[in-house]
Formats: sequence, structure tokens, C-alpha cells
Amino acid sequence: MIGRRALLGGAAAVVAGAGLALTPVWRSTAEPVDEAAIDEAAIDDAAIDEAAIDDAATRLDGSLVELRRDIHRHPETAGQEQRTAELVAERLRAAGLDVTTGVGGYGVVGVLEGARPGRAVAYRADMDAVPPDGQIVGGPAAAHVCGHDLHTTIGVGIAEVLASLRDRLGGTVVFVFQPGEEALTGAAAMLDDGVLAGTRPAEIHALHCGPFPVGRFATAPGYGLPGQDRGTVTLTGPDAAEQARRLAAEIGGLGTVSPPGSSADLERLVADIQTPDGPLATFVFMRAAVSEAANEVAVSYRCWPEERHVEVRESIRRLARPYDGASVDFPGGPFPAMVCPERQGQDLTEYLRGTLGADRVVTLHAAIPFSGEDFALFLDRLPGTFTFLGVRAPGSALESSYPHYGVFEPDERAIGYGVRAMAGWLARRARTE
Ligand SMILES: [Zn+2]
Repeated sequence: MIGRRALLGGAAAVVAGAGLALTPVWRSTAEPVDEAAIDEAAIDDAAIDEAAIDDAATRLDGSLVELRRDIHRHPETAGQEQRTAELVAERLRAAGLDVTTGVGGYGVVGVLEGARPGRAVAYRADMDAVPPDGQIVGGPAAAHVCGHDLHTTIGVGIAEVLASLRDRLGGTVVFVFQPGEEALTGAAAMLDDGVLAGTRPAEIHALHCGPFPVGRFATAPGYGLPGQDRGTVTLTGPDAAEQARRLAAEIGGLGTVSPPGSSADLERLVADIQTPDGPLATFVFMRAAVSEAANEVAVSYRCWPEERHVEVRESIRRLARPYDGASVDFPGGPFPAMVCPERQGQDLTEYLRGTLGADRVVTLHAAIPFSGEDFALFLDRLPGTFTFLGVRAPGSALESSYPHYGVFEPDERAIGYGVRAMAGWLARRARTE
């Protein structure tokens, strides 16, 4: 079947099922495109297929890797993404998209209208780097250790691939390049700025680098990432500092999971999120610490399912009650969890299995307790998917593919996989005939 072979990019298809070690992924490195064999007249009229996408992507692979390295060398944190946004806007304009900049800060929106009938679907990529205090055993400077440099590059690549196939594209694809994801402010800012208002996409989709072998995808129908709730407990009286220490320990006891402390913990975490009804089916990831004021406990937690916020807040209030004069404050509601709708997630799983092979797609059965995503705000408004893109290089330590670790070093071949898979998927979702 041509789709599967084409999406994998030539030589890699030959070893499907045998792992990816040392096999060139892109056809450009494996076998030349036989231009003479392509009957242009015959394919011009047809809807976009995986072979056409692979041909277009193969011409772009090199320049996309260069773009990623450029963005990587110039990491910009939330609210500072000026240079990255300029690079993106320039490439989208050159590809012929209708581009709007300055959406919710440095956000960039590119609209690609196909020549054939269809509906609008959106693709979102985040652009910001991780500040030092967001890194796990990281360095002193901001760095792209969450893979947003790849996400941005993949978004540009999909736009360029589909723009080159515009005559065969049905519908409209709206590319949303979001600033400020790490600060959980960018999605809200873009939405406030009416990012979806003009084009009214029916769905929105996104990829995120994840600790799976390069060339593989992990879909998450019904799952996603937890939200976050924050509050404070203020204590009074002469021994308030001592009380705060005791209460912080008690509230900490509400937690059911702790962040991985070793490579073995990380391996277990990645296995657990793939286990149906496994140890992470429900969880509370609790952080409670005495704040600088000494008489305050700062509480921050994530839980699954999202509705458990009510009961966790109640448990915190119950623990604080015996402390004379303690006041518990949760200003506002929790930041919402990102919950991926079942139907679109199942559709994507089927699509990827059909084009890549079943062995290239896993389905997650739990949320990762330790991180959140403001893509949650997009999925609150319209259906879509959020899928982990495997970036673990063969033989590398798991930390090298786990976002936020200082040693994060994604396998760049993931860019080509992401572009091909999502270009095909978006073309499929946008066309209506
Ligand atoms: Zn991220």
C-alpha cells in the first residue's frame, strides 16, 4: 500500500516493525524521487494523498532541519518570541499563506485556502522556550528543552507542504503559532484576540514531542494533561511558622504520585500512561510548601480526573480546620485540564495506523501527572486532537526525549514524521467531498 510506504519516507518503510535504528528516515537520504515516473496530468485532479505529501515533504526536509536549528540557537521565552514569530511569518508568506502577526502577543496566524471545497480546520504550534526555573537539571539560560522549536518547524513544514499542493487541497487550514505556552498565557491571549473568529475552524490539532521512539506517535483519546489549581493557607498566632510546616506536610500527604527521580522511574511512568486502568487512572500530584512569608502554605496541585478538584479542595480545608485561625484561599477556578475528545482521537489513531502501520501508533490510557498545556483552552472551545510525537533517538537515555529535562535532545527525524503525518491528517479533515 502506497500510503504507508510514502508516509514513512522510503527506506524506513522497509524496516517497519524492525525498529528504526540507524535507518535513514527520509527518502532524500535513501533514494531519489523519480520525477519522470510521476504523471502530473493524472494526479492534478485528485485529492491529496500520502504519496504527494511525501514528495513535497522530501523537498523540504533539509530546509526544515535548518529552520529548527536556527530557532533552537535563539530560544525566546514566553512573551519574547519576536524573532521566532518573524521567521515563521516570513516562511508562511513566502509559501503564499494569508498571514496575520501580533495575535495575542507574538502569535502568528497563517490561513491556507485550498482550491477545492471543504471546511476549515486548525493546527496549533507553540513557539516559546523554557526558562531556567522550568528546566529539570537544566542550565542557567532559556533553552528549547520542551521541543517547541520542533513544533514550530513542523507547523511551518505542514503549511509549506500543503501550500505546494493547494490545487488539490480541499477546505482551509488555519495555522496557529502560539506564544507563551510555558507561562500558560498564550492560548488565552490569542483566543481573546479572536484567533478563531474569522475562520471558525471545525477542529484544532496539535503535536507535542514525547518520550516515544522516533517515528512513533502516541494518541490520547479521552486523556490528555491535567489542569492546575493553586491556593494558599494563611496561619496566625505566635507559632504560625511551625504550624505552617506541619500543615504543609499534611497537605503534601494528599498526593498520590511524585515526580520521577530516576531513569527507572521515568521508564515506569512512560509504561504506566500506556496501561489501561493502570496506576495513573486517577491521581493527585500535590505540592505544598511554606512560602517566604513563613506563616503561609502555598498549595499547587494537579489531579485526574479534573472533577476531583472539588474533593481535593475540600480535603485541604478539612486538614486546615484544626489550626486555629487558619484561612484557606483558592482565588478563582483551576486552570482547566486538557481533555482530548474520544471521537477525533480514535479517528486519528485509525488514520495513523492505516498510513504508518499499527506498530507505529500507541494509545495513551492516562494523563501525565506532572505537566499541563494551555492547548486545553482550544480544546475547551472546539474538538480536536493532541498527539505525542516520538523524539527518542535509538539507544538514547529516556531523559533525552522527555520534555523539560536539561539533556533533552530530540531526534530531528521526528520533524519529517510530524510534517508528513499531520499534513495528511489535516488534508483529510479539511476536505468534505
Ligand atoms: Zn511544551
